[in-house]
This record gives sequence, C-alpha cells and structure tokens, in this order.
Amino acid sequence: MSQLNCDLHGRRTPGALEGFRLTLYNDGARYTRRLRLCPEHVDDILEQRQREWTLLADDSYAVDAGVCTSCRATIPRPSDRVSAAVYLYRRKQQPAEYFAWYCNACSLALIEDYGLERETQL
Ligand SMILES: [Zn+2]
Ligand SMILES: [Zn+2]
Repeated sequence: MSQLNCDLHGRRTPGALEGFRLTLYNDGARYTRRLRLCPEHVDDILEQRQREWTLLADDSYAVDAGVCTSCRATIPRPSDRVSAAVYLYRRKQQPAEYFAWYCNACSLALIEDYGLERETQL
C-alpha cells in the first residue's frame, strides 16, 4: 500500500490519494489550488458542500441565479458574483466538474479554508 501525504491530514495516510482542484474567478483574479486528499477527506468535503456545488453535466451550464450557493444571499450586481469551478478526482472514476456562485464573504472564507492562491489572469 502506498503512503502519500493528504493535504488536510498533514501527515501520511495509507492508500492512493484523490482530490479536488478548486478555482474561484473574482473580478479578473483567479484563486486556485489542487488539494491532494485521502478518500475520507474527499467524502467529508463532498458532504459539507453538496448543497452548494452543482454537477456540471454535458447538457447543463453554469446558471447564475444571482444568489450565493453557500449562504443564499442575493448578489444583485453581476460584478460582485464570484464563480467557482471544482474538479473532483476520485479513484476509478472520470473527473467530475462542479460549479458554484459565491458572494464576496463566502469566497473569502473558501480561499482561507482551502488555502487558495492568487494567480493573475493573462
Ligand atoms: Zn485526509
Ligand atoms: Zn455567500
């Protein structure tokens, strides 16, 4: 059995790693991080976020309802809406893509929680 570092455990855990890439698009700035996680942490995060992340299927697209998908606050100005793309990588599965919309406060919490790093858009 392989021993790999889970980013949330902060120590080595047995088994293969799974993970997410989380990217926020905020007013020309991009915040992103690839998290390498054990399956247990992937399950935790999915359970925690299942109401705010919507699976992006081939026949759907990212609907912006003007509402934060986390706290449900109305975000009237389109320029204040932060869009999020989530790629989920699990063992023996195709990568899945999710999307979400966040208000400024929730997006900042997410950047903090998952240690997203700012990239400048080209
Ligand atoms: Zn873990
Ligand atoms: Zn919010």
